[in-house]
Amino acid sequence: MWTAAQLARLGKVYDHELASELGVNAETVRKERQRRGIKPLRVAAAKHRQVDRLVGKLPDVEIAARLGVSAAVVYRRRKAVGAARGEPIESPRVPRRVWTLQEARAVAVEHGGTCISRKTGSVLRWRCAEGHVFEATAHRVIRRRQWCGRCSGQVKD
Ligand SMILES: [Zn+2]
Repeated sequence: MWTAAQLARLGKVYDHELASELGVNAETVRKERQRRGIKPLRVAAAKHRQVDRLVGKLPDVEIAARLGVSAAVVYRRRKAVGAARGEPIESPRVPRRVWTLQEARAVAVEHGGTCISRKTGSVLRWRCAEGHVFEATAHRVIRRRQWCGRCSGQVKD
């Protein structure tokens, strides 16, 4: 399976890199390289320092992909510097939407009712077409499209 061109790359590029080019696993490349007595391409010290700056901050696989080293290198550096396994960085939390009274009223009108709160807040007061007054969060009414608990039979008189 090894062509001369591929063999020439052994030890010139990282095993995992050559492996992914060839569509084989890194172990296959490592064995072939060792069989031929070729030393592995050493990860440069500068690269190690780049890895060291990120270990524990990002998942190992992400650091590996970002810096073009194998996850094993990242793993060893993480152990060496004693960093915890990095957690995926979460996307910034979107602050909870504050609904305007206009929005609340518009939704209430769709139900044939009205929003009777004078100012906006997380919990608003509503009146349905049957005259039931109830409190519900804006999120519940506007986003989840729920309405009067008594009319829907969820709340008994
Ligand atoms: Zn009702």
